[in-house]
Amino acid sequence: MLDAQITEKPLTFIKSQSDLPGDVDSDLETSGAWSVAQIEALFALPFNDLMFKAQQTHQTYFPDGDVELATLLSIKTGGCPEDCGYCPQAARYDTGVKANKLMELEDVLEAAKAAKAAGSNRFCMGAAWREPKDRDIEKVAAMIKGVKALGLETCATLGMLETTQAQALQEAGLDFYNHNLDTSEDFYRSVISTRGYQDRLDTISNVRAVGMSVCCGGIVGMGESREQRAAFLARLANLSPYPESVPINHLVPVAGTPLAEQAPLDPLEFVRTIAVARITMPRARVRLSAGRQELGRAVQAMCFQAGANSIFYGEQLLTTGNPEAEQDRALLADLGLKTKQSCKSEVLI
Ligand code: SF4
Repeated sequence: MLDAQITEKPLTFIKSQSDLPGDVDSDLETSGAWSVAQIEALFALPFNDLMFKAQQTHQTYFPDGDVELATLLSIKTGGCPEDCGYCPQAARYDTGVKANKLMELEDVLEAAKAAKAAGSNRFCMGAAWREPKDRDIEKVAAMIKGVKALGLETCATLGMLETTQAQALQEAGLDFYNHNLDTSEDFYRSVISTRGYQDRLDTISNVRAVGMSVCCGGIVGMGESREQRAAFLARLANLSPYPESVPINHLVPVAGTPLAEQAPLDPLEFVRTIAVARITMPRARVRLSAGRQELGRAVQAMCFQAGANSIFYGEQLLTTGNPEAEQDRALLADLGLKTKQSCKSEVLI
């Protein structure tokens, strides 16, 4: 049995900003132990100050300024027994999503080839399971081997994972495992009841235990308070080590789900969330994920300024829309942003 390599640093609560050790511009990003109050203090900075600090951090840790393109394929859609309140794939919600079986290997590899041809450098495979069975792991392992052989980075999101399953996926060549914390611990029960916060932390530990990289983030705009957004980012930033990839989703309310009528989050608050993620997890790839389409070009540009440096690209993002690859390429070109793949050859897409 491998030892879990992940630990959580305790959260310390500081009553007011005046209790901060120095000001928030001190070198907190390398301290690795963020209090919720410290993160709230970042959120509360004047917008331009926050953006400046985030951009400084970004340029320090990502001097190339490149953007990673990740394509997500739903290899098994719908029919999920969980009750995540935002998710159209939960079987219990009437959302019109049809449950499909696990895709065939050849079809997955065709999609991966297309993603590579379109410029993607990471291929993520998502399955709507509570947790995979061992026979599912065998099939997904074959997909991972095939995708890896195409020269793509591989990521999978299959639900809760045991260490032995993580080991099998890692041996097949899996680079990243995605499992999101979704939100803060105290807001979590408002959204999900069929698995606990600790279950999620355990899966992340199991992934770390076999030496795989972690992709872990969540969704904002589900009705949580700013303090809860700060607590969510504190949990991520205080994971030791913090995730290599941090997808930040903007809720897409889907008819039929409990969050269908949720009022949209102020776009500037979303940009602030990206900036705070960048400052508190300076080496992570911060990914704009679901909900990007609704943000429009200007807000996405601000997110890149705030330190986002990865996007889901060119394929349907599970069952919600994702901007077409052409629109993405045009936006990145207009902003003068290079992609991770093209960065070495200094080619603008
Ligand atoms: S988010 Fe994942 S686990 Fe939750 S209902 Fe959707 S597919 Fe199932």
